[in-house]
Amino acid sequence: MSQLDDNLMEKIVSLCKRRGFVFQGSEIYGGLAGTYDWGHFGLALKNNLKQSWWKKFVDNRRDMYGLDAAILMNAKIWEASGHVAGFSDPTEDGKQFNVMFKTSIGAGEEAAISYLRPETAQGIFVNFKNTIDAFHPKLPFGIAQIGKAFRNEIAPRDFLFRQREFEQMEVEYFVKSTDWEKYFEYWRDEMLSWMEEVGLNMGKIHETEISDQDRAHYSKRTIDFEFDFPFGKKELFGLAYRTDFDLKNHKLEYIDEDPPAGGGEKIVPHVIEPSLGVDRAVLALLLSAYTEDEKNGEVRTFLKLKPGMAPVICAVSPLLKNKPQLVEYANAKVFALLKEEFGRVAWDDNGNIGKRYRRQDEIGTPFCIVVDFDTLEDDTVTVRDRDSGAQERVKVTDLKKYIKERI
Ligand code: ATP
Repeated sequence: MSQLDDNLMEKIVSLCKRRGFVFQGSEIYGGLAGTYDWGHFGLALKNNLKQSWWKKFVDNRRDMYGLDAAILMNAKIWEASGHVAGFSDPTEDGKQFNVMFKTSIGAGEEAAISYLRPETAQGIFVNFKNTIDAFHPKLPFGIAQIGKAFRNEIAPRDFLFRQREFEQMEVEYFVKSTDWEKYFEYWRDEMLSWMEEVGLNMGKIHETEISDQDRAHYSKRTIDFEFDFPFGKKELFGLAYRTDFDLKNHKLEYIDEDPPAGGGEKIVPHVIEPSLGVDRAVLALLLSAYTEDEKNGEVRTFLKLKPGMAPVICAVSPLLKNKPQLVEYANAKVFALLKEEFGRVAWDDNGNIGKRYRRQDEIGTPFCIVVDFDTLEDDTVTVRDRDSGAQERVKVTDLKKYIKERI
């Protein structure tokens, strides 16, 4: 393990709190294990990740349907899916413990038992028929969902890695049974290409074939994409061949209008499931981006995030906050212009310029823009690059173009 890795998790957790990314859940009451609250910048990073996933796997495709199913579902669903009987982890003394959160719905004697969903997938399966009736898709097609999942993990740990409440991005991709191997390979490539696009350190990603005895009850083949976390090589995402297990259990089928022999054959499609944890993705991205270098004998920390993922694309500062001319110019002519164009633009006039750069470096802001006295004369500003620290004078009228070219 390198020196940087030694206390990397502590550094990441502390940065997340200090810079408003992620806070311990229920912190002022002593916390609640396995829960976290997302602050302004962490939420922006998380939303960027989710949006890039949605764009690649839903908006840019013709064969994918989005869904946002209810978290509370009829308990019969969890019986049919096998979760009531089998979604358990062994406790320390070897007793099996079902990790679904039980809850009751309604009042008094009438109350019905239900569960907070432990995976988003079942919401997709039980809407299979609705999706077919509404959109008449041809095989292969997929249904995609991003949403919360809950597991009463026996030992939540490692910050965002193992929580009791977390978010998943899942696709259930429905194929003919004979095609499953082809689409398994296809989704493996798609997942890897998304990981690379968002900026995960691909050198730290490893594929592991899950053995027969370790696979989930519904799967005939699973690959885990593991990541070299500072606490070990652990599952980041999974890709599973769920066969026709779920559709069969829910007694759902599909009418194939073009079978080889012709004429409307009833079939049960098979399912390939790329399943991604949002929170683990954020943690792996923070670990991929976290960088320390040395400038003038001082250690500098920065998040080397791709601009598309960065919570803030650029920060705008007047050199001195007690000079109204600078403040007014920076606000009206620079901040307003960029905010309108890019949205994720910060106003930062706190402390001296050095402190502002350090703060924005830790947030991962690719560009810091400073309005100084020369600006008032020649309408140029200083643009400082996060990674190199290099500074350039850029005309205010060229700023939008300058940033666009670089993101
Ligand atoms: P693990 O073996 O680490 O418990 P799993 O195999 O049970 O994970 P899956 O059921 O395959 O996980 O869930 C799909 C994805 O959801 C995982 O790859 C992971 O990214 C995410 N995930 C699962 N459990 C948690 C958790 N407790 N906290 C955060 N993310 C989770």
